[in-house]
Amino acid sequence: MQKRILLICSIIVGMIIILTVANPKSLMVITTMAQEYVNGYVNDDSRASDKNNSQNNKPGDNKQEITTPKDKNQKDGQPQDNPLAFENTTTIHKNGKQIITNTDSLLVLVNKKRNLPADYVPGKLVIPNVSFSFPGEHQKKYLRSEAAQALEELFQAAKKEKLDLLATSGYRSYQRQKAIFDAKAKAIGVEGANRTSAYPGQSEHQTGLAMDLTSTKVSGQLVEKFGELKEGKWLKENAHKFGFIIRYPKGKETVTGYNYEPWHLRFVGKETAEYIFTKGITLEEYFVQVHDYPQI
Ligand SMILES: [Zn+2]
Repeated sequence: MQKRILLICSIIVGMIIILTVANPKSLMVITTMAQEYVNGYVNDDSRASDKNNSQNNKPGDNKQEITTPKDKNQKDGQPQDNPLAFENTTTIHKNGKQIITNTDSLLVLVNKKRNLPADYVPGKLVIPNVSFSFPGEHQKKYLRSEAAQALEELFQAAKKEKLDLLATSGYRSYQRQKAIFDAKAKAIGVEGANRTSAYPGQSEHQTGLAMDLTSTKVSGQLVEKFGELKEGKWLKENAHKFGFIIRYPKGKETVTGYNYEPWHLRFVGKETAEYIFTKGITLEEYFVQVHDYPQI
């Protein structure tokens, strides 16, 4: 009997030696199988579920939720996940007015349809280190810090080109806009006033992301002639490199709702500014094309 057991063991050991010599990996496989047998993990399914459900290891539950990159993209593409989607940037007031909800976004869209709340004041307002058309302290020297820094870079580049640029009007509170509009409306009527001046709540200057630029060559005034100067032409071709767009371009009056303003720069960040510049579109058209806003 003992002899027979000894013979069987010798045959098994002999087979292992032959297998190992023929293929060294066999020893690893045999060792792993032996270990798993000892640990009681001989079932293939249970090993699979161990690997895939390491966080939620219910016995016998092999359901897996796999998120492929494609699934993720589809999710991101849905409007509810896009912070700039129309419904995520607007509420409709009971009087029918569209009120902006993403007031602090660098891509906030303010126009004759979309109103900033009367009490909205941007967070961090600073005075950019650039030349102004007037001396002293004034609210209209301020910009949001992101826009202020970009404007400083733009002015440095303009200086290298020996351009004569002056900043003249940046941040404007709701109350100041109201005073300006009311005075203009008193002089030429509400409709006439709204062709060049915004209703309170509808001015981009309330965001702290817009700055009007001028030049001593036009006596520091905001006039169309500025667009024909070397300064105005340079801005049109280069402002996007610093994250600005010419917000009210020529020929787009029906889209923006405002007359041509070669002096009004709006900060939107370099990526968006470049897109808008390259396509030759307005901020309104950008939102229609890229963020599926209702047609203008
Ligand atoms: Zn302006």
